[in-house]
Amino acid sequence: MKLARFDNGRVGVVDNDMIADITDAAGIDPKAWPPVGMVQLIARFAEHLDVLETLARDAPRHKFDAVHLDCPVVWPNKLIAFPANYQKHLEEMGEKRISAFTSKGQGFFLKSNSSLSGPNEPILLPPIPGREIHHECELAIIIGKGGRSISRANALDHILGYSCLVDVVVRGQEERVMRKSFDTFCPMGPYIVTKDEVADVTNINLSLSINGEVRQSANTRDLIVDIPAMVEMASAVMTLQPGDIIASGTPEGVGPIVDGDVLTIQIGGVGEMMLNVMGTSEGAHSVWDK
Ligand code: MN
Repeated sequence: MKLARFDNGRVGVVDNDMIADITDAAGIDPKAWPPVGMVQLIARFAEHLDVLETLARDAPRHKFDAVHLDCPVVWPNKLIAFPANYQKHLEEMGEKRISAFTSKGQGFFLKSNSSLSGPNEPILLPPIPGREIHHECELAIIIGKGGRSISRANALDHILGYSCLVDVVVRGQEERVMRKSFDTFCPMGPYIVTKDEVADVTNINLSLSINGEVRQSANTRDLIVDIPAMVEMASAVMTLQPGDIIASGTPEGVGPIVDGDVLTIQIGGVGEMMLNVMGTSEGAHSVWDK
């Protein structure tokens, strides 16, 4: 099943070239603030997806390409991110004490929830002269059933599904959270693909292109901390909630994006997003002057 947010907070099930609008049938208020409709949907139905399938059968339908897709989970409780989680990416970042710098040795960090943006929003680059702003191609894991101290063996029971995610970052020595948390620095979408549609999470191809040129190409088999281990580690520290997002780390090939670029992220069986990159005047601050 593909779950999407569209047209200002409505929720739907994508069915080939159509989308079934289950907002009303599922009891979601699309106008509510904060915009937690998808989080509520996940909390209520993650363990009862068959109910959503039934609702979708009788729901009003629209042409999929006629709706405006939004970020599927725009107001999660947490946006968790694993750094340096592919061996070759570590090598390109020049890390010598490799084991200490992997997600295995360092653990994870949090990225601002407000950096999330949707598949139809541009990535807005702040004016920071002399700095590179990099793309990181990542598989997003969406939590279905929450929990604490989730074992590796039970991890998949807590995963709802997957999405495409770009972790955008200003390179430098400032606090990582600040460098990764500008508005629009975390595009996610185009929808959530539930785990039953992903045949083998240890064999998912992901790639990212800039202006049609492939920059990143990898497979989840090369993750250092794999998907169950990420759920185990994150939930050892904090209670995972329905709708929480885990950005699983980037493979090698990170590089700069600039005004006018077109970025494409493709994840096998999960989806594809094409995003415009634009410069903006907002974001300048003396903290970046070095
Ligand atoms: Mn990253």
